[in-house]
Amino acid sequence: MKMKPTLYLIALSALVFSCATNPFTGKKTMALVPNSQLFPTAFSQYSQFLNENKVITGTQDAEMVTRVGQRIAVAAERWLNANGNEGYLNDYKWEYNLVDDATVNAWCMPGGKIVFYTGILPIAKNEAGVAAIMGHEVAHALANHGQQRMSAGYLQQGIAVAGNIAIKDENSRNAFNQYYGIGSELGVMLPFSRSHETESDQIGIYLMAIAGYNPDEAAELWKRMKANSGGDSPAEFMSTHPSNDTRIANLTKWAPSAKAEAKKFGVTTFRN
Ligand SMILES: [Zn+2]
Repeated sequence: MKMKPTLYLIALSALVFSCATNPFTGKKTMALVPNSQLFPTAFSQYSQFLNENKVITGTQDAEMVTRVGQRIAVAAERWLNANGNEGYLNDYKWEYNLVDDATVNAWCMPGGKIVFYTGILPIAKNEAGVAAIMGHEVAHALANHGQQRMSAGYLQQGIAVAGNIAIKDENSRNAFNQYYGIGSELGVMLPFSRSHETESDQIGIYLMAIAGYNPDEAAELWKRMKANSGGDSPAEFMSTHPSNDTRIANLTKWAPSAKAEAKKFGVTTFRN
C-alpha cells in the first residue's frame, strides 16, 4: 500500500516521538501504543481467556507456578531498581495461572499476565525448569516485544497515529488480537523474531538466577524441548520459540554470568 506523503509524515513523526527505552539493552524501541492503552486491553483479554478455559487452583503444580512467578517478579523489580529503572513496573499487575490444557505452551501478556499450560510441566520437569520458562516469557513482556510488534503492525497498515492519542480503543483491541494473537480461541501467541527470542533468553536466565534458581537448568530445559519436538505431539512452545543448538549454547555460555549477577543481590545458592 502506498501512503500519502502527509500520512507518511504523521506516521514518521509518531515514530520519532513514540519511542520507549528498553531498560535491559538501553536501545530505543518503537512504542506507538502506550502502556496506558495496551495494558487495559491485555488485562481484559486475559480475564476473557481465563473465563473460557479451565484454571487449576489449589494443587501443588498450581502453587508452584504462582511461587515461581512471584519470585521472578521480585527478581525483575530488584534488577530494574538496581539499574536505575525504579517505577518501571508501576503499571504491571502480575498474575500467574495454570490452565488445564495438554498444549506445550506458556505465555506472558503485556503488564505481567502469565499462563502456564499443564502440558508444558512434564518438560519443565522441575521448579528451575518452570523458572527458565517463566523468566523467558516475563522477559518478552518487560522488553515490550509485543508492543513493538503491534507498533510495526500499525505502520504496515498505514494507520495514522498522531502522537499516541489517535488510536481508538477499537483499533487498539483489533491490533492486539491480530499481533498478539491471544484473542483467538486457540490462545496461541504469534512467533517473535529471532532477535527478540535471543534477548528474552538472556534477560530470562538472569531473572531466574536472581530469583535463586539454578541457571544451568535453562540449557537443560531447551534440550528437553528439542527432544520433545521429535515426538508425536510437537510442542506449541517449540513452534513459536524455535529451539536450536545456538540457543542451548548461548544459555550454557550465559549461566556463569547470570550466577555472578545474582551474587550482587546476595544470592549464592541456586535451587533446581
Ligand atoms: Zn519467546
